[in-house]
Amino acid sequence: MPDLNGLVSLITGAGSGIGRASALQMAASGSAIMCADIDGDAARDTAAAIAEHGGAAAAVTLDVSSEEAVIEALQKTVRDLGGLNVVVNNAGVGGGAGWDRTIAVNLNGVYHGLFHGAELLSQRGGGAIINTASVAGLVGLTGPAPATEIPVQAGAGAYTAAKHGVVGLTRQFAITYARRGVRVNAVAPGYIFTPMTEMMRSEQEYQRYLESIHPMGRLGQPEEVAAAVAFLASPAASFITGVVLPVDGGYTAR
Ligand code: NAP
Repeated sequence: MPDLNGLVSLITGAGSGIGRASALQMAASGSAIMCADIDGDAARDTAAAIAEHGGAAAAVTLDVSSEEAVIEALQKTVRDLGGLNVVVNNAGVGGGAGWDRTIAVNLNGVYHGLFHGAELLSQRGGGAIINTASVAGLVGLTGPAPATEIPVQAGAGAYTAAKHGVVGLTRQFAITYARRGVRVNAVAPGYIFTPMTEMMRSEQEYQRYLESIHPMGRLGQPEEVAAAVAFLASPAASFITGVVLPVDGGYTAR
């Protein structure tokens, strides 16, 4: 387990799935956690679970599509938890949310956390940022039907466009902040067992298809992504910046 003792981390989307698993795992590794989520009750629930296990945590209701709200959440973390060393820009919605909302949350939301988080971390002596991209940030997504039969709906491609944008922002900010003490990396999960994929997984045939496109023959668990996030946040990754780490059972190795 990476050593995060003495660190303070802000994690967005910490009320569910990958964000919640990252919050629990990073807290178990010693970091104090500000759990941020648009669902304030879910964020408070994650913070309570951390506290139950003896960790330090607080919670904030946050819509990452609001630049002002992201700035306030960063400042609140410093105020309430006494510092800030790590920002995990993880909150996201599925592509079904439509073009505007998907871009507002999955791309603009990450940009707000990066732009303001990197500057604040730099002013405070350095730190690490981890963005949650996706395999859809590296390749286009496929479906079980031949590509020509995939229905094209309004907003099609928004998720892939946003996640490719997250990959680009990760590389750009890694370079911009390389000599300013802030490491910027991303994880690119394959399909993971979280509420986001619940609908797809409810159809057995579709779940089998999803399993088949991962060379390991299965979907991932949120804890498997959290382990990569915790590593990239830790001093063990001190010479790693600008990396987009697939956590995808071989999905992008094909
Ligand atoms: P999840 O279980 O749905 O968790 C996402 C959390 O983010 C939810 O609590 C959600 O709240 C919250 N959220 C949504 N919009 C928000 C906003 N504007 N501001 C703050 N919080 C917001 O999904 P997940 O699978 O853990 O996804 C986490 C990240 O991983 C996302 O960026 C996603 O794109 C990425 N990812 C997921 C997969 C996968 O297969 N699951 C694969 C690759 C990448 P509500 O539930 O109230 O909306």
